[in-house]
Amino acid sequence: METLLLNVIDLQSKVEGKSILKGVNLKVKRGEIHVIMGPNGAGKSTLANVLMGHPHHEIVAGRVNFDGADLLAMSVDERARAGLFMSFQYPEEIPGVTVLNFLRTAVGQISGVTPSLFELNSKLASNLRDLNMDQSYMSRYLNQGFSGGEKKKNEILQMAILEPKLAVLDETDSGLDVDAIKDVYEKIQSLANDQNAIVVITHYNKILNYIKPDFVHILVDGRIVESGDATLADRAAMDARLSAKVAAHLQSDAGANLGGGPLRIGHRKHRSLRQAKCRGGDQLG
Ligand code: ADP
Ligand code: MG
Repeated sequence: METLLLNVIDLQSKVEGKSILKGVNLKVKRGEIHVIMGPNGAGKSTLANVLMGHPHHEIVAGRVNFDGADLLAMSVDERARAGLFMSFQYPEEIPGVTVLNFLRTAVGQISGVTPSLFELNSKLASNLRDLNMDQSYMSRYLNQGFSGGEKKKNEILQMAILEPKLAVLDETDSGLDVDAIKDVYEKIQSLANDQNAIVVITHYNKILNYIKPDFVHILVDGRIVESGDATLADRAAMDARLSAKVAAHLQSDAGANLGGGPLRIGHRKHRSLRQAKCRGGDQLG
């Protein structure tokens, strides 16, 4: 059945009086994986926060429909119970609450039935194995003293146990080494099925080694400026590298001496290259 799980229509937001989201449109169906990429400060985390109902963000315009309901009218709790899951860029530490108790309570709150420890443990075992996490994490306080990798794995463990309809994962790779990235992204991919949907926000250009997105979106300055299939992720990564290179050149000597030959990545002539030419003059070509 082809129903929209998430429909974001012209979403605009402000934080501390400043416009951040400037008209975001995004349609997500069950069974789809979407990747959102874009430069720092573009509003990627803001989009995730607004969807989850973070109180700092003011909705200025737009609508969000989630599984047939008006998401923006729901409390944070209601959003979670409706099947929305968010993995944050900077997970919080909760001293005094063990991972196991947190998970048990979370499942109880969201599904309405608190699982027995036996049930939960049996569900946890294979997920811990997949993520290369030791059973001993379960008795540690949530995120306290966890490495970056452990925090992120813990978030994906929550996702695996809570089985949300829609998971929005914000920079799940940031600060992780290659092995942890592999564990985390392979697990995310394995959790995708035809009943749920996953939105992955990332800078990480090798994401396609692990995740097979149906759509890739580029978010710039509060708007999705381009959407395409997985090949867009490669181009976005190249764009980012190229822009950084161009910026460094322009900064180093204000464009006076842009030596080093034409800016090319591989053999492909690039859209950004053409843009850079327009901005930087002939020297770039
Ligand atoms: P991204 O995740 O794409 O790097 P963010 O959504 O985190 O970008 O930030 C977008 C813009 O919103 C940035 O300019 C950032 O400084 C601003 N911003 C986000 N959250 C807050 C906040 N709580 N208070 C003030 N400014 C914020
Ligand atoms: Mg961010």
